[in-house]
Amino acid sequence: MEKELLVYIDGSYHPKSQAKISVFDHGLLYGDGIFEGIRAYNGSVFKLKEHVDRLYRSAHMIMLEIPMTKEHIIQAVLETLRKNNLKDSYIRLVITRGVGDLGLNPTLCAKPTIIIITDTIALHKVEAKEKGVTAMLSWVKRDPVDATSHEIKSLNYLNSILAKIEANIAGVDEAICLDKNGFICEGVAENIFIAKNGKLFTPPSYTGALPGITAEEVTKLARRLGHEVKEKNITPYELFNAEEAFFTGTGAEIIPVVEINKRIINSGKPGPITKRLMAEFSKVVLDPKEGTAIYK
Ligand code: PMP
Repeated sequence: MEKELLVYIDGSYHPKSQAKISVFDHGLLYGDGIFEGIRAYNGSVFKLKEHVDRLYRSAHMIMLEIPMTKEHIIQAVLETLRKNNLKDSYIRLVITRGVGDLGLNPTLCAKPTIIIITDTIALHKVEAKEKGVTAMLSWVKRDPVDATSHEIKSLNYLNSILAKIEANIAGVDEAICLDKNGFICEGVAENIFIAKNGKLFTPPSYTGALPGITAEEVTKLARRLGHEVKEKNITPYELFNAEEAFFTGTGAEIIPVVEINKRIINSGKPGPITKRLMAEFSKVVLDPKEGTAIYK
């Protein structure tokens, strides 16, 4: 029998089938918690420090004090990967408010629960990278920055899940959320870019989008390739008439979007800038300088 993956919970390791937390944990009862999705490529964790920094920013926003230093969290992630003998993995680092009572008051939770899952993820069909995905603008607006916006990478993902349900019903691969003002915000777990006249545009985080670590890296790569990249409000009209559109995210990596609400994006095939960025991105994730080695 294949050995079960081990899951880190509060400093100890449990086989996947027995990795359990209390039903009184406020992460479950109220979605009160934060997380990061991180990837390891060929023995090194891509942008681990950046993910841990963002985790602490989310924690700061919800006034959750993580009872570990950033360095301890980094070491715990690396140790979990080593215990599972993984060189390539999707890592889910979760911190909940912890066990409390049935009231939502977070001050009654004694200590946060810390969970590290190292596994794999498949968000899209294998051919998605080559052929692109279809998407729809959803009626579900992204929660704005004066609510539970995705700026906070919280355990409350109903906003995205509602949008994904609509995409499932419509028979398309992905949903795109608009912001409160009708501008494009982001995908359900991805940032979005469009290309026009050799320039790239992406919505700013004040639309309620998560400031993506992949988006930041893709912005750097695109600038290095000579493309101007600007954050700006993007209208549905601009999205439908883009020369190229693509999603970025840790899980998704870079995924071309070729059709939105039945409007074909340009040729209906992944565009040249998208393809070039995908090629560059697949090199950068393997660059040891960009990651933290699992095995020293
Ligand atoms: N937006 C949302 C809502 C997400 O959940 C994610 C995935 N973390 C992203 C964007 C992409 O962010 P990143 O590139 O940091 O994974």
